[in-house]
Amino acid sequence: MSSFRIFAAISLGLSLATLSGCETTTSGGAVGANRSQLMLVSSEQLAQMAAQSYAKLQADASRKGTLNQDRAMLQRVRTIASRLEPQTRVFRADAPGWKWEVNVITSNDLNAFCMPGGKIMVYSGLINQLHLTDDEIAIVLGHEISHALREHSREQVSQAMAAQTAIGVGAALFGLGEGSAGLANAGYEALIATRFSRTDESEADRIGLELAARAGYDPRAGVTLWQKMINAKSGGHTPEFLSSHPADSSRIQEIQSLLPTVMPLYAASGRR
Ligand SMILES: [Zn+2]
Repeated sequence: MSSFRIFAAISLGLSLATLSGCETTTSGGAVGANRSQLMLVSSEQLAQMAAQSYAKLQADASRKGTLNQDRAMLQRVRTIASRLEPQTRVFRADAPGWKWEVNVITSNDLNAFCMPGGKIMVYSGLINQLHLTDDEIAIVLGHEISHALREHSREQVSQAMAAQTAIGVGAALFGLGEGSAGLANAGYEALIATRFSRTDESEADRIGLELAARAGYDPRAGVTLWQKMINAKSGGHTPEFLSSHPADSSRIQEIQSLLPTVMPLYAASGRR
């Protein structure tokens, strides 16, 4: 074996070693969120997919005339996000330095998400139809930001790859015969239309409550937010956000059980 081949073999081995195996994406914080996760793709690969998908989403909305039309709502959401962002350092040191982006799409949809790397999108219907307060918006954003901090999408793609079911996503990630359009579509499926597990949802609730409390938003809004969600569900059809975020009494009970942990952080924030 030539020295080059040996070097190449070692390099490949090392890169696979760094990509496979378990790790935790965050420190535990007060709420304890450092479960070990299976990761088979790199953060950089997911961030690239996210950036492309987010740009496509913005371009599509801009063409339809629905991007950032409500300037007052945009300002409101960006102000709340800007108070949450620095708090992310409790869970991971790199997150405050992410290229955060916050935009609002005018839509009747009840939806919001934060893609890997801090790309936030809020649909106006969520705020308008549920008449959300600033505290409740902070709980929603805190929850969605937490999915990005914990890299739940990366974990989900990794689990799918381990099960060899994410052929399209895997092919796109590794550039196997997919154009950039294919990459953006795969990104949409993996990063926007994601259905997280109940474990992921619980982690995002816990971290999100702590982020909101530290930023000076009342964590008790977690209870009223999810009560509003339950009412929205019982009003007829199930909104997009609720099909991926089950609203039920057990969720509210878990949030209530965390209040003694996060209320002191809210009090210490000095922003009540
Ligand atoms: Zn969620």
